[in-house]
Amino acid sequence: MTFRELLTSASRRLQDASTPYLDALVLLSHASGMKKERLLADLPLQADEITAVLFEGFIQRRLAGEPVSYIRNRKEFWGLDFYVDSRVLVPRPDTEVLVEEALRLIAGNPSIRRIHDSCTGSGCIAVALKSEYPDLDISISDISADALEVADFNARSLTGKALPSSLSNLLSSVQGSFDLITCNPPYVEHDYVEHLKENNWPEPALALDGGESGFDLIPRLIEEALDSLNENGYLIIEASPVLVPLVAETMGEYNYTDIVQVTDLAGKARIARGRKGPC
Ligand code: GLN
Repeated sequence: MTFRELLTSASRRLQDASTPYLDALVLLSHASGMKKERLLADLPLQADEITAVLFEGFIQRRLAGEPVSYIRNRKEFWGLDFYVDSRVLVPRPDTEVLVEEALRLIAGNPSIRRIHDSCTGSGCIAVALKSEYPDLDISISDISADALEVADFNARSLTGKALPSSLSNLLSSVQGSFDLITCNPPYVEHDYVEHLKENNWPEPALALDGGESGFDLIPRLIEEALDSLNENGYLIIEASPVLVPLVAETMGEYNYTDIVQVTDLAGKARIARGRKGPC
């Protein structure tokens, strides 16, 4: 079969996915080892047998609901090529808003030296920050040992350095005091996560399930961060657009100052940040 025939038939079978042709093209590129641009130029050529067999396997997995990122074991985030598998949430472009805000704070506050990323998952936030500021002291934690393995792999392969890590539920067993804490906690409503699970959603429920209203963990995180932050240290939390105002309000209740909600390019609130006031 030609590359064109493979692509056309696969994208027809993937018509229920949101981007059938792109998914098929990316997976054919993965199966053949050829860049997408090259494939598009070579559409009339015959695909070899191994490529066709590998591609069929990938399409079967995609049809069974696996995201392209898990099939390729890759997801680009902050211009870096992260390793991902079903032990971690696939990094979302939304989370780049958090990275941007952290970088803004770091650039404007030379006293920010020690950073901790809680609920690190794939390590995307910490690794992105480390890639921009290799000299910063950045540590990570997660409740999942599996996720920490993935984050460690990403830190080593993308920054050339390991990041100190601890197995911790939020900040409970994280040692140290920090100038900045970042966190993308689970914040999806429990019932919705149950619905995803029933539909064989492949991402770890632990990384998504934020309890009944999605807001179970965030107040605890805000409270615990008071113990882990230096005076004037910043906390940045990602949440859903509905929850971000609540995050900001809760920071106020815990006497954080300088509280700001940041929206993404589509105008949706994506993160809230605050600063620990004087004790
Ligand atoms: N942004 C993710 C989603 O909407 C949720 C991530 C999270 O709970 N931290 O699927």
